[in-house]
Amino acid sequence: MKGFTTRIVHSDRQEAIEHGSLHKPIHANVAYGYEDARDLAAVFQGTKAGYSYGRQINPTVEALERKISRMEDGLQSVCFGTGMAAIGTMLFALLRQGDHFVSSSFLFGNTNSLFQSFDAHGVDVSFVDATDVAAVADAVTERTRLVFVETIANPRTQVTALEEIGELCRERGLVYVVDNTMTSPYLFQPKAVGASLVVNSLTKYIGGHGNALGGAVTEMGTFDWGGFDNIYETYRKGEPAKWAITQIKKKGLRDFGASLGPEAAHHIAMGAETLGLRLERQCANSRALTRWLDAHPRVKRVYYPGLESHPEHHRAERLFRHPGALFSFELTGDVDIWDFMNRLQVVVKSSNLGDNRTLAIPVAHTIYYEMGPARRASMGIDDSLIRISVGIEDTDDLLADFEAALDG
Ligand SMILES: *Cc1c(COP(=O)(O)O)cnc(C)c1O
Repeated sequence: MKGFTTRIVHSDRQEAIEHGSLHKPIHANVAYGYEDARDLAAVFQGTKAGYSYGRQINPTVEALERKISRMEDGLQSVCFGTGMAAIGTMLFALLRQGDHFVSSSFLFGNTNSLFQSFDAHGVDVSFVDATDVAAVADAVTERTRLVFVETIANPRTQVTALEEIGELCRERGLVYVVDNTMTSPYLFQPKAVGASLVVNSLTKYIGGHGNALGGAVTEMGTFDWGGFDNIYETYRKGEPAKWAITQIKKKGLRDFGASLGPEAAHHIAMGAETLGLRLERQCANSRALTRWLDAHPRVKRVYYPGLESHPEHHRAERLFRHPGALFSFELTGDVDIWDFMNRLQVVVKSSNLGDNRTLAIPVAHTIYYEMGPARRASMGIDDSLIRISVGIEDTDDLLADFEAALDG
């Protein structure tokens, strides 16, 4: 098989190429017309491949779905308007009242908030320390259907026990969902640890330019959906490996309508071509910056899986091509967080991550503000914690920016 970037750059050419266009054209189109009304009916009945309505299917979005399946070495992908839409629609399509699932407690904040809503609607969730497989195993009950984890957590960079949880899910017949956003398929393919379904926020590294929102769910083809009761009779057709992704698309996406638009799909597909190149640079910058900050007297602690002091350093080095492009750090008591941040000139004070630009955010005062001081303390979020999403700038410019801000 060819290398990652070769496969992605030449992905669209694997299917019939329209007018010789090297980029899949943007089909800004909602409805599809047929000469023969019988064809229209056949498309709706699923006996003939074709396009029905833009909420569920669009050729530009479909080309991106194929590209993501190639990146993740998966069977089939479905795209959504955002990463949150992908997670919410997937779980709503697969779980029923009375079901239970186990989730990592080190979660993207909005995913955490979403799971609390599932709990309020009769789908129970247990939050556990997923760096330890025993904590996950202890939380599994007879009603447990699924385990949900992220690869590297944000902002404290805990690395999940991905291999061990994969083993547990296989033994217990549980659906294993891995949110691969923080690593992206360039750094890690969750298929290697037995994931059933993989989630990616396309807004982050895959799109990479901070110019389009999107999300995706990819079926790995490893789970036996034949034994999964929550698949409706209508979708129990053809090979069982595709039953769940079909239900997520045909029912979940259709009913919720959190569709990805063709223009956004185009932006994301363009961004995806350079995913490997960008991450090489971003990870090299991350290693250089964390090494430098870790040795600085005004920095109390640096959280980055690439540092030997990180509790899951060896796991990260074993599983991932590089240990990611996001880190966080705490300042010593004599440094004012606002003065420090305002002295940064190259680094942008902003939320988001996975952008080409390096972004810094004071965690306790922004994305974790709503939680309050007690919950923040329980999660180890210090008031001086700053999260850095590392960009593709020249390494020396970033080092100089941090040096000037710390020594200023
Ligand atoms: C950003 C993010 C999401 C949500 O993605 P959006 O596209 O912003 O909705 C989900 N999971 C993780 C790990 C993320 O970082």
